[in-house]
Amino acid sequence: MTPGTIWGVMLKKKVFQQWEIVEELAKMYSYLPKRYIRMRVQEMVKIQTLNKALVKVHENPDILAVSKYSSDWERNYTTYYTCEVCEKKFIPSMPHQKVCSRECKRKHQVKLCREYRRPSEERKRNRKHLPWTKEEEEEILKAFPDLKYSKAIAQNLSIKLKRSPEAIRRRLYELRRGAGK
Ligand SMILES: [Zn+2]
Repeated sequence: MTPGTIWGVMLKKKVFQQWEIVEELAKMYSYLPKRYIRMRVQEMVKIQTLNKALVKVHENPDILAVSKYSSDWERNYTTYYTCEVCEKKFIPSMPHQKVCSRECKRKHQVKLCREYRRPSEERKRNRKHLPWTKEEEEEILKAFPDLKYSKAIAQNLSIKLKRSPEAIRRRLYELRRGAGK
């Protein structure tokens, strides 16, 4: 990774945040530690800002432009994300940012919490607590004709019966005991 390649990526991007260049270079040089790439990019930004080849056009988040594009940088800036909460377009200040503001972040966390809780409430009502029906037991006996447990069969059957393979295994053993084997 030469200074030339780093500057080349900046020239191609025209208007960017530092982390965007780091991400781009990290794709090209996946064997290099990101920390090292970040340091090299920072160095380049410093030098080229001093040389006036780069101009800071926006603060918080900091956006840089190759000097020739600094006056109409907004037209050349392409990195807008859509907020997952309010669906507004925003300038992300880091990769993988999902929301536009602190307010939306809070709402997003509440939503995540709710989504996280839902499955566990479902788990409480899980079928595994329901008693086995005659039909289900017949399915088990049919699936394991010699009453020998097989994980593959249990996994197949678990989709059909909507019970876990482990529950099926336990029931099979109970049935086996009942069958006197
Ligand atoms: Zn938002």
